[in-house]
Amino acid sequence: MSTKAALPEALRPFADVPRHNLIGAPTPLIEQDRLAKAIGGPGLWFKRDDLIPFGFGGNKVRGLEFLLADALAKGADTLVTGAGSLSNHVRASAATARAGGLDMVAVYWGDPPEEIQGNFRLVQMLGAQTRFTRDMDRASVDTTLDAVEAELREAGRAPYVIPRGGACPLGVVGHVHAVAEFAAQCEEKGLTPDLVVLAVGSGATLAGWLLGSRLIGAPWQIEGYTVSRPAEEARDRAAMFARDAAALVGLSHEISAAEITIHDGFIGEGYGKASPAGNAAITATARACGVFLDPVYTGKAFAGYMHHVDAGRFKDISNAVFLHSGGEPSLFVGQGALA
Ligand SMILES: *Cc1c(COP(=O)(O)O)cnc(C)c1O
Repeated sequence: MSTKAALPEALRPFADVPRHNLIGAPTPLIEQDRLAKAIGGPGLWFKRDDLIPFGFGGNKVRGLEFLLADALAKGADTLVTGAGSLSNHVRASAATARAGGLDMVAVYWGDPPEEIQGNFRLVQMLGAQTRFTRDMDRASVDTTLDAVEAELREAGRAPYVIPRGGACPLGVVGHVHAVAEFAAQCEEKGLTPDLVVLAVGSGATLAGWLLGSRLIGAPWQIEGYTVSRPAEEARDRAAMFARDAAALVGLSHEISAAEITIHDGFIGEGYGKASPAGNAAITATARACGVFLDPVYTGKAFAGYMHHVDAGRFKDISNAVFLHSGGEPSLFVGQGALA
């Protein structure tokens, strides 16, 4: 039984994709008027996907509902996925494996961290088997995922491999559902957002938001802030994921990279490294309204939003919504956001 609103007609094909419920009720959509007053700019709302009530939440769980259903339908006994050792995706996947009664193998690029903290600590608690590629190239995860899959099959196991970072068309379906959930909440509250702002890693979340919003004819623009890849690469990937997710449910829908807004300039020293602007956004938000952003994704994206508020870019709009996509376990790593 789902407690969620039925999908709008335009998104009906997505309702037929099997889903294993991990999330339950819609995540809160909350007005942040103190924060809006503190930083300036239009009315501001947070969509709190960080509060997804499962495995420390976050946007990755949206996709994992559909990936787990697929894994179980295929008779899998083990989830296999990978990323960096502080990955939210790997932590959420390890929790998802347990919710489905499955084992988990986590593949990480590089060497084991000196200290067991943050998401890596949670993955250990979940009893996942962990492997390190000993290669700092992130793509080294991909070949090791293939090797682990072959190894498990050889041993008579039934692995289900989720691509690095969880970025795949089936995962995007979860974000299309998030748009339907969000649109229903806006209607209930009488809110007409002009703008939705989010952090972009692989581009899968943005792809789902763009696709779902486009299909329902939503009034809002969507702007992403990249925290890892160059904006141009992220735009191409988002366009590809949107097209592939549409195709997965039998729709042919193209969003060209040229129509996608992703801002560069807020990555700082690099993916996964806290930045001064991101840290300032985290503390500004916490002190204005008691909500914690994270140092890897949402802090940097919100720093971008704040920068554009200061630059006067949003003078003509009334309401912006920031997607809080999670990641708070990274606040407890090293010096965290105060580094
Ligand atoms: C993965 C992640 C994102 C980015 O999502 P993509 O689909 O990879 O673009 C944003 N915020 C948090 C907290 C994440 O873990």
